[in-house]
Amino acid sequence: MLTEPQKAGLARALENRRTQLAREIDEKMADSRARGGSANIDQIIEGGDAALADALAGLDLAEVQRDLAELRDIEAARARLADGSYGTCTDCGEPIALARLEAYPTAKRCTDCQTAYERQRASARPRL
Ligand SMILES: [Zn+2]
Repeated sequence: MLTEPQKAGLARALENRRTQLAREIDEKMADSRARGGSANIDQIIEGGDAALADALAGLDLAEVQRDLAELRDIEAARARLADGSYGTCTDCGEPIALARLEAYPTAKRCTDCQTAYERQRASARPRL
């Protein structure tokens, strides 16, 4: 179980990363607006791919998608903090080690389940 100060520290880490990512994306959006795009960051988080496509005219799509994926992970982690499920592995229900959460505050699986998940995804991926 995480203590309140531990949770507060992790919440702060998530908040800082969120601010940093939002600023990065915002800068890219400003570039896009200069070229005639219209969406803002909140619309994109809410609106999904259509808003994203609109906003990203002329941008490095892969880079912004990566930032947005991380931002959505952060939002999900904040929701888990709010509902009390944060720090518990979504697969096996065991507590996630504090060191792992400090390194990856958005982690939703324990190390064992994450390793198994990635192995499964790797083998499910079609080979080209
Ligand atoms: Zn697990």
